[in-house]
Amino acid sequence: MTYLFDPPPVPALPISGSDKLFPVHRIYCVGRNYAEHTREMGFDPDKEPPFFFMKTPDALVTDGKFPYPSATQDVHWEIELVVALKSGGVNIPRAEAMKHVYGYAVGLDMTRRDLQGVAKKMGRPWEVGKSFEKAAPCSPIVPAEKIGHPTTGAIWLDVNGERRQTGDLSQMIWDISSQIEYLSGLWELRAGDLIFTGTPAGVGAVKKGDKLHGHVDGVGDLEVEVI
Ligand code: MN
Repeated sequence: MTYLFDPPPVPALPISGSDKLFPVHRIYCVGRNYAEHTREMGFDPDKEPPFFFMKTPDALVTDGKFPYPSATQDVHWEIELVVALKSGGVNIPRAEAMKHVYGYAVGLDMTRRDLQGVAKKMGRPWEVGKSFEKAAPCSPIVPAEKIGHPTTGAIWLDVNGERRQTGDLSQMIWDISSQIEYLSGLWELRAGDLIFTGTPAGVGAVKKGDKLHGHVDGVGDLEVEVI
């Protein structure tokens, strides 16, 4: 049997220091995983635990260009540490979780905040706010065998040279092991899955021409221009 038409390309990320690509299966994202960001969004981190949503993998951006999306007047940046899995499974216990991690990247969980706001208010799904075209700019993956597993270190975002987001990986409410344990209880994790691990405080709106520069200590940098 052959396909009716050519299948779409496999979404993939470059791997730092390698000529191989990392093929992406799913993109999981954790919401409200830093307390200060939870508060700036109007919620109480002591009352509501983090939760997950997904982005479609073909929303990855690797060329540093983020086209201002349709149907919105309020597109926000969210700088995040991204975890890349080399294996998976179901019901992975915390103590076993880190052996499934291949490496790390720096990502932006771009968000149509106005559409997300309507969805929240009406109790509707979040895809319109989170899973649109080019909604997931991401740096190359750095293998954990080179950098280890970062649990502390600065995460920040500059917009046009001005620091807008700052945090530390140690401020995550759910650490990476907990995220893998929780996710694997709900879905079967697989090699190629990415996890966007949440954003620190300081989210705000982009406009065309903005230059975003995100950084995670020990992982690297991501530079994106809004076009
Ligand atoms: Mn996010």
